[in-house]
Amino acid sequence: MTRLILIGGGHAHVHVLAALAAKPMADTDVTLLSPYSRQIYSGMLPGWIEGRYAIEDCCLALDLLAQRAGVRLAQSACDELDLEARQVLCANGDSIPFDHVSIDSGPVAHPDDLPGALEHALPVRPIEGFVAAWPGLLERARQSELKLAIVGDGAAAVELAFAMQARFAAEGLDHARLALIGGNHRPLACFPLALRRKAMQLLAAKGIAHQAGRRAVAVTPDHVQLDDGSQLAADAVLVATGAAAPSWPAHSGLATDSDGFIRVNRRLQSLSHPFVFAAGDVAAYSDARPKSGVFAVRAGPPLAANLRALCCGQALHEWLPQKRALYLISTGNGNALASWGGFSASGAWAWRWKDRIDRRFMAQFGA
Ligand SMILES: Cc1cc2nc3c(=O)[nH]c(=O)nc-3n(C[C@H](O)[C@H](O)[C@H](O)COP(=O)(O)OP(=O)(O)OC[C@H]3O[C@@H](n4cnc5c(N)ncnc54)[C@H](O)[C@@H]3O)c2cc1C
Repeated sequence: MTRLILIGGGHAHVHVLAALAAKPMADTDVTLLSPYSRQIYSGMLPGWIEGRYAIEDCCLALDLLAQRAGVRLAQSACDELDLEARQVLCANGDSIPFDHVSIDSGPVAHPDDLPGALEHALPVRPIEGFVAAWPGLLERARQSELKLAIVGDGAAAVELAFAMQARFAAEGLDHARLALIGGNHRPLACFPLALRRKAMQLLAAKGIAHQAGRRAVAVTPDHVQLDDGSQLAADAVLVATGAAAPSWPAHSGLATDSDGFIRVNRRLQSLSHPFVFAAGDVAAYSDARPKSGVFAVRAGPPLAANLRALCCGQALHEWLPQKRALYLISTGNGNALASWGGFSASGAWAWRWKDRIDRRFMAQFGA
């Protein structure tokens, strides 16, 4: 028996599970290691905040997907890999031996990079933690004036701000105040200028303050300290800065890039340990691509094919991620911004398009 461990139930691994369910692999014992028995699909999170989706609509049942694939679910997190002994050391103290391992465990939030954030801020990841905390935040907004600051001004932070504003407005919570804190003069730094301008206009129109060009340097119980010496009053702070790498891949001795993401070749194989594969945000592809769900989803089919080839002793194939991707950023109230290469546009059609894509993605996996 070849022993394969899938670490994390991310976008690429759910495809691997579906491929195994469709066509099981002989003589291979597969384990999925995941801290949760479900995977919350981040693309639908803003819609859940707004109240457009129930949380069940946004969840993939990893336990069911694993069961259909004949895969054992070990409910814990990877703490470290012992690459000599070929064992995964789990947070619950278990160690699981393997012949091959595939990692799709996503990015992490690093609130410890921002003094005070660990104690006084809510990170958007793990998404389970955020989902558990959001109803409490909403309740606080219902009870009293709430000043909510979001640290970050990338796509996730902007989508969350628009979704929360839409929810507050829908409930008549006009006293709730939202601010985005980003180091950039305009949000959405990686997107075309026209889209960034449109986002600025929309933020202003909806009363979401953007602290342009000012970085958060500390969080206290009642304010965020900014790098120009000023303070922003905040009763609650959400950290939604960009994707950061977990520390355990580098600590385990895997080759990583300077940010700690696992370096892989075009076969999605670790550059230092060919029996280790990685995909999604945790991977640093040889053809660099933005950290996004789009590329994590795209990596699913080539990863599934190469894990099968590996376990069956066949040749691996190279994968070249597409250069461009379609991004649809919801702006609340059934609207979205769309971006493809240098092109950008916005409207209700973009949100309907996003909704269709997201629902189709979920339906593929039986959700
Ligand atoms: C609010 C929000 C909205 C977003 N919207 C979009 C969007 O519309 N489009 C888009 O392209 N991107 C979007 N993103 C970015 C997107 O979420 C990520 O790029 C994407 O989730 C990366 O996928 P992944 O498969 O690498 O990891 P993930 O989706 O994060 O999955 C990783 C899985 O691994 C598990 N895991 C974590 N650590 C461990 C461990 N140590 N051991 C075992 N398992 C572990 C996690 O529980 C999780 O199930 C959004 C992000 C946020 C926060």
